[in-house]
Formats: sequence, C-alpha cells, structure tokens
Amino acid sequence: MTIRYLATILLYFSIAFLYQPTVTAQHTEAELIEEAILRTDVEKNIYFLAADELLGRDTGTHELDIAARYIATWYQIYGVEFAEGYDSYFQDVPFERLRAPENITLTVADSTYQQSRDLVLMNSFRGDLDSEYIFLEYATEEELNEHDVEGKIVVSRAGLPNHTSPQQNFMTIAQKNEWAREAGVKALIELYTSPQFPWQILVNFLGGDRIDLDSSDPENDNPLPHFWMNGTISERVDFFSTSTGEEVTLNVEGPESETFTSRNVIGVIKGTDEQLKEEYILLSAHYDHTGVVDGHPEPITSEYIYNGARDNAVGTAGVMAAAKYFAKNPPKRSIILAAWTAEEVGLLGSRYYAENPMVPLEQTIYNLNIDGAGYNDTTKVTVIGLGRTEADDEMIAAADAFGLEAIPDPVPEQNLFDRSDNVNFAQRGIPAPTYSMGLTGFDDEINFYYHQPTDEPHTVNYDYVTSYIRSFVLAAQKIANRETAPFWLPGDVYEEAGIELYGKE
Ligand SMILES: [Zn+2]
Repeated sequence: MTIRYLATILLYFSIAFLYQPTVTAQHTEAELIEEAILRTDVEKNIYFLAADELLGRDTGTHELDIAARYIATWYQIYGVEFAEGYDSYFQDVPFERLRAPENITLTVADSTYQQSRDLVLMNSFRGDLDSEYIFLEYATEEELNEHDVEGKIVVSRAGLPNHTSPQQNFMTIAQKNEWAREAGVKALIELYTSPQFPWQILVNFLGGDRIDLDSSDPENDNPLPHFWMNGTISERVDFFSTSTGEEVTLNVEGPESETFTSRNVIGVIKGTDEQLKEEYILLSAHYDHTGVVDGHPEPITSEYIYNGARDNAVGTAGVMAAAKYFAKNPPKRSIILAAWTAEEVGLLGSRYYAENPMVPLEQTIYNLNIDGAGYNDTTKVTVIGLGRTEADDEMIAAADAFGLEAIPDPVPEQNLFDRSDNVNFAQRGIPAPTYSMGLTGFDDEINFYYHQPTDEPHTVNYDYVTSYIRSFVLAAQKIANRETAPFWLPGDVYEEAGIELYGKE
C-alpha cells in the first residue's frame, strides 16, 4: 500500500516533470498536426476504402459510389464546405465505355492496315468513309489552318513537337481531335513513333474495351474517326510523308459504346487571410482502383480483389486527414480537397475537373497530389517533382518534422511525374508535384504489392503511413501560409504554361 502510494507520487512527479515544457511552451505546427490526425483516423479510412466489400473500387461500379459517399460523409462531419455555387461535394463526370471494334480496315494505295497489328481506334467511331489524305507534321491548330484540309483525311505524327513521352502524346488526343473537327477534317490518323512503349504494349492498353470521358456531341453521335497507327516502322513514316494525295478508305465495325457517370469528391476550406484566401491549394488523390481479376470465380474471394490499400486508399486517407485538420485550423490560403475517380483508366476524373474546374484554375496556385506504387523505405518520402518548383524547402522541412527524408524521383526514366493526376494540372501551368510514400526504386517489395491483390489493408505499416500523412498535411500548411505562391523553377517544361495561366511577366 505504502509502496504503491509512493510509486504513484513518484510517477506523478515524473510525468509532471516530463510534460511541463510542452504544456507551457507553444505547440509547434507539427505537434498540432500530430494531435489532430490520429493513427486510428488513418487506419479506419484505409481499412474501409480497401475492404474486400468495395471490390477494388473500379470506375463505373456501385462500390466506387459507396467509397465516394464515405469520403463525402467525412467532409460533412469535419465541416468542409461545398465549392462556391455548388450544392454537394460531388462533381458528376460523364464517361463512355468504349467497346473494342470487331474489325478495322484501312486501305491506302496498295496497302491494307489492320486493327492491333497496325491500328488502334482512339474513340467510338463506327462506319465507312473514303477520301484523299494530306500529311502534316503534327496536325497542330496552326498547321491545320495553313493547309487545305477540309474534307480530307489528315495523317500526322502523334502528340505535339515538344513532347518527350508517349503519355504526353496520349494527353493531347482530345485536343487534336477537336482541332481536326473544327478544321473540317474527315479523319485523323496519328503515327505513333515513341520507342518508350513498344507498339504491342500500347495495343494491349488501348485495343480492348476501355473507358474515356464522354466527349460525344449530342448533335452528332458519331465522332471524328481518330486512329493511332504503328509508326515505329520507319519506312511507314517515310511512305506517308511522301504520298500525300493518295486515296484512303476505312471501315470500322463493332458494338456501340455505353455512357455512365462517376464522381469526383470536392470540398473547400476558406483561408483566413483577407487577400491570400482568393488563392487555393489543391490537395488531391485518386480514390478509384483497378477492380477485380478478370475471370474470377463466383462467389469472388479475397485473392481475386485488387484492394488498392497503398494505391490509393493511403492517398485518399491523406486528403481526408487534411480535411479534418484544415477544417479546424484553416491556413492563410484556401484549400480544395479533391478525391478523383477514374485515375487507373487514364487520369480521367482529374482531367474532367481540369477541363471543368469548380474553382478557377488561375486561382489554383499549387497542386499537391498523393499517389504512388507503394513504399520500400519507411525513412523517406518520395516527392515526384522535388527540384521542379519553389516549394522544395517546405516539403523537405515537413518531412523532416516527422523524422522522414524527402527525396526526388528515383526513376526519372519512368516518367512518373506524367503518370498521375498531377499532370493534368501541370500541363495547364499549375505547379503540381506528387507527394509519394518512400520509394527508392521498383524492387521486389514494390512489385509484390503494386497493382496486385496482395495490396491489402492489413499489410500496411500504419506507424509509417500516419507519419507520412502528417508530413503531407504539414507540407500543405507551409505552402498555404507561404508569403508568395511557389512557381515552377526556371526552365521547367511546364513553366511556359504557368506564365500563361497566371498572366506572369
Ligand atoms: Zn494510383
């Protein structure tokens, strides 16, 4: 009894002594974040979103709608606002499920080109047409205006002259199709010449059934036929660039496409500074994943579900943590919280938002995105885009405050920067790095989980992920409170777009 009493007194004094400095001293930013964002918050969100019952959160499924409702409900509980002029957190995104054609035939002079071997159709066109063709280098808006293209088929190289990756080529499909349609072109055939992705891989990715934004024109439900042709055979580019005027006939047959909607989940937290609150930091992560393994047994069992805990329930939990913290502790600038649909099928939810922003893009001064293949180093944060914007110091300090080291992209040759939702904003000029978990390379640890049914919630290191998410929130806070908006570093490939977007200089 006495001993116990003495022990209690000793314990009391030792606790009082230990805690005294922090009770009286002002809490640091990091401590406030640590108190607000609990490991249990992170855990419950990842366990829910990556649960087997959500069947891998595939775009267009009822289960993904349940995930959207879950995120929106937490925004509501935390007191996050709707974007100005909207009456819910949901942005409905119209999609089209494109069915693979059964047959494509294209004939030029004596040569016949076929689906998969030579051609991939980029949209839902069905039917026949014939016309002479004209070769233009890239079929840019200027080139189309300079040449007599009306009623002709245009053949060009894929993408635009300054492109360095097939992803960039892919991102301009809608834009080039629109230019061609406005110029009165009958069909567009782009020669794909990038050595980075072999043609066969591209065909596997684009040749089957797939999902795209519904760009159909209600006045005319058959779009301008748009193909990519295998141009990695160099004689083929030579042939097309020297045979302008030849007659082309083409035919596409197969089932029609279907339309549906899915949702981005968008919330806003207004900033506290009279002036700076007109500027917004976009905090984003995709919440969709890749669904279930094709040809799974019925009833489906766990080993056939792509749970996507790391990719990207973690990122979604990061945005939800930011919602919880910033709703109670708003920074000077305003915050947009965005959970994107349809990343895994081609970065489509974020692209739709970039084309239909709920806050003007020129007021969106930074995008900090979360996505990634997973982690293999729990002492690090991998910032895809470190060394490209003026916010390096903020991100490095935020990671450091939680005992983590921020490192840049370890595999620049893989173009990770252009492979997630951030690129839809970077292309429009918004500085937009992706704040990923610690990845030092694509090793066995990463490949064991990345896009595999093994990426399950019980395999995640929650102490690490909680620190990582807290550092993300701190990085966002430091950027949101920064005196000036952090821009691209000089010479960046997206600097020019930024100068145009913000009307700089
Ligand atoms: Zn992802």
